[in-house]
Amino acid sequence: LTEKLSRLVKEIRGQARITEGNVQDMLREVRMALLEADVALPVVRDFIARVKEKALGQEVVGSLTPGQALVGIIHRELAATMGEGVADVNLATQPPAVILMAGLQGAGKTTTTAKLAKWLIERRKKKVLTVSGDVYRPAAIEQLKTVTRQAGAEWFPSTPDQRPLDIARAALDYARKRYFDVLIVDTAGRLAIDEAMMREIQALHAELKPVETLFVVDAMQGQDAVNTAKAFAEALPLTGIVLTKLDGDSRGGAALSVRAVTGAPIKFAGVSEKIDGLELFDTERHAGRVLGMGDIVALVEQVTAGVDLQQAQKLAAKVKSGGFDLEDFLEQIRQMKKMGGLSTLLDKLPTQLAAKAGEADLQRAEKDIRRKEGIICAMTPQERRHPEIIKASRKRRIAAGAGVQVQEVNRLLKEFEQMQAMMKKMKGGGLMKMMRRLGGMK
Ligand code: GDP
Ligand code: MG
Repeated sequence: LTEKLSRLVKEIRGQARITEGNVQDMLREVRMALLEADVALPVVRDFIARVKEKALGQEVVGSLTPGQALVGIIHRELAATMGEGVADVNLATQPPAVILMAGLQGAGKTTTTAKLAKWLIERRKKKVLTVSGDVYRPAAIEQLKTVTRQAGAEWFPSTPDQRPLDIARAALDYARKRYFDVLIVDTAGRLAIDEAMMREIQALHAELKPVETLFVVDAMQGQDAVNTAKAFAEALPLTGIVLTKLDGDSRGGAALSVRAVTGAPIKFAGVSEKIDGLELFDTERHAGRVLGMGDIVALVEQVTAGVDLQQAQKLAAKVKSGGFDLEDFLEQIRQMKKMGGLSTLLDKLPTQLAAKAGEADLQRAEKDIRRKEGIICAMTPQERRHPEIIKASRKRRIAAGAGVQVQEVNRLLKEFEQMQAMMKKMKGGGLMKMMRRLGGMK
């Protein structure tokens, strides 16, 4: 998808206006991407309609290219669908602030209870108590006890023979008397939605009057997440969503669906099994993931900001006339640096791609760029324009000037020749490819 999308961006770059035709092409890709990411169909339809409306006929402002403008619209709309910015946890109430955890079995409620406790202790300097109302699975209470200890919070004991409502009352009473800031109430979840479970959590809600009622949902659940979310939202006034297991393969499309059907903001993301694997949910960042393109949007922006398009066109003209020389080569290397170096660029690529490149490769590549720049800088202007005059004695002088071995100068010249040959074959849009080559990553 990444390639397809960036190709589309490239295709419509340079046109003055976003047209019906190129918007359709792009939106078809986006629609596919969203469905692949398990976003529910009605949500996808709505989304596409909104983007289309915003995009059609929109004039392109200033230096923005149409492709970029469209990507911008898609990205903003995607983020808006999931809620603007970052939604914080609400503790604005007379302490103890009660947080009620709701969701299906296995969604990650117990784990998230402890993660959240740790998060509140560390980030908000709160005194936190946890309690389990899951009296149906014998191991559930013990599990909460264990993870609460890891979180450094206090655990309020409960036993399987108690009624959840009694447990909740006792815990709340204890939290008040001991001046806890927050009480997090973990609850039972069934494998599927059932009436008894819903009534039970409704009763807990009525009793505890929680300031936050968080719906915990597994990001891997895909399309099913919609039905679960709907059922919980009908039963309870949800104040927020926790999307767990975002460290998995799922593209997290559930975020859009769940947000759309509940209207509640996504507040947290579970990003590992570990106790510190909880983050405030960042819609901007997540938007890129849902589209399956890492932060390709940011990448496109960065690339087009860093690379002077006029410069690139001039270069293309030069290549056609066969005048691409080492000056231009140097210019390319500098453009590369202007884009913020390879590592920031790589950060923005989809994870699979980034992993492939690897940290060590990267550092090598960056160092390589600096050395190349050094070598070219050690040349005279005449040598840069006519590399063919660089023979043995000049090579030795250049190598000494740049502080490298003669072989390295040879290697650079060879690379330059190859690039010159490649650029002659290349028409127009191969700029990115060339830059990647420059950086030594294929
Ligand atoms: P509950 O039934 O809703 O209480 O779910 P649990 O908290 O017991 O979690 C179910 C399983 O999901 C456990 O094995 C957890 O370790 C795992 N889990 C929960 N949150 C995450 C997460 O964010 N990432 C990953 N990888 N695993 C998680
Ligand atoms: Mg549990």
